Amino acid sequence: MSSWVDVHAHLEGEEFAEDREEVIDRAQSAGVEIIVNAATSRRSAQKTLELVERYPSLYASVGIHPQEIGDELPDLSFLEEYAQREKVIAIGEVGLDYYWDKSYIDQQKEVFCQQIELAKKLSLPLIVHSRESHNDLWQIIKEKIGEEIVVWHCFSGNENILQEALSLPVYFSLGGVVTYPKATGLREVVKKIPLSRVLLETDAPYLPPQSRRGKRNEPAFLPETASFLAQLWDISLLALRERVWENFFLIFGRKVNFRYNS
Ligand SMILES: [Zn+2]
Repeated sequence: MSSWVDVHAHLEGEEFAEDREEVIDRAQSAGVEIIVNAATSRRSAQKTLELVERYPSLYASVGIHPQEIGDELPDLSFLEEYAQREKVIAIGEVGLDYYWDKSYIDQQKEVFCQQIELAKKLSLPLIVHSRESHNDLWQIIKEKIGEEIVVWHCFSGNENILQEALSLPVYFSLGGVVTYPKATGLREVVKKIPLSRVLLETDAPYLPPQSRRGKRNEPAFLPETASFLAQLWDISLLALRERVWENFFLIFGRKVNFRYNS
């Protein structure tokens, strides 16, 4: 059977209130053996922690998403405690987002930097989000990141950023967007990402792969994106799977109690 890991989903939200159990079962049936649920706020972190206790296949990352940041800076003290819990394997999702609201750019940067510091302090990888803010995000990462691993979720940067990022421990998590007919520019960049830096994600409930567009995304749809990418890179599905697991364990293995059998 195929075996995958979805490194970025949001199953704690209302979108899954009615059928979360079935969604997680369907993921298992589709071979998605591990799902990393990314919290975006304190409340979503609390719910995420409840879920990872209940479901063996779920792991968590905790952080404050840039869209959650307004005028007042959030109190991040809870994060340090949450981040040290069992099954919490990263700080995220964190970063910058100028798409919806540009009023709080300074606050977003400040909170992003604080969360980078926390990741450093706890030696945890960082899962980052960027929308219409790639240059600023990249500037901050270059200045602040030392040996910490960065997972750039739903990567949509250009080739310059990609080439620079390869000199740091940055990994690129790819999801449904690469399958969209209009994403030709992104595919050109994605083709150049070395397999040693690749992870796969759904970002469920958002950004489903092409055949499911307009519907709610879920981890069970990950194999569609995987097949698409294997073709794009002209490699076998097995080769892709093995690389993704290898990368996953390299990044998160310290806190993951799971063995992948090929
Ligand atoms: Zn996300």
